[in-house]
Amino acid sequence: GGDAVARLVADRVLDVPDFPQAGVVFKDLSPLFADGESFRGVIDGILEHYGRGSFDVVAGIEARGFVIAAALAYAAGVGVVPVRKAGKLPREVLSASYELEYGEAVLEVHADAFVANQRVLVVDDVLATGGTAEATLGLVERAGGTVVGFTVLLELAFLGGRKRLAGRPVHALLTV
Ligand code: AMP
Repeated sequence: GGDAVARLVADRVLDVPDFPQAGVVFKDLSPLFADGESFRGVIDGILEHYGRGSFDVVAGIEARGFVIAAALAYAAGVGVVPVRKAGKLPREVLSASYELEYGEAVLEVHADAFVANQRVLVVDDVLATGGTAEATLGLVERAGGTVVGFTVLLELAFLGGRKRLAGRPVHALLTV
């Protein structure tokens, strides 16, 4: 159930103070990804939450979102679409820029990545301020997809990402 899946995340996340800059506590989920039983448990937990057959494709946000997206898509028997940082995708793209704590970032998706009204599940590792998610969900919709959900392994509630995504179907395996 949900509590057991939340515990998998809680037990294998490492807090790294002052990374990548002073004042930020980086939530390192690499121990979770590195443990086979835990990794399978979180992927199965996401699939169980939505139900098999409830989405047509998984979109993963570069780079840690790719790890989750690929495993989830394989388990669900659907495909995977990469949402990438600027300049990485080779063909026509849609772009969205968003504010970071310092400066601006750009995310891109291939313009033809989705079939019209395709049901898209978007995944990433951590929801912090929500800027990345907001930009990505907008991109998916502009590209013709229908967002059925946005899932993260870990939500940092004190940063208010969920409020910023008000009205969006946000799902976190663990909220702290
Ligand atoms: P945000 O746009 O603020 O919600 O940030 C989310 C993106 O940045 C995700 O792709 C996360 O991987 C990464 N991120 C932001 N803050 C953290 C953090 N404290 N620990 C780990 N990853 C983070």
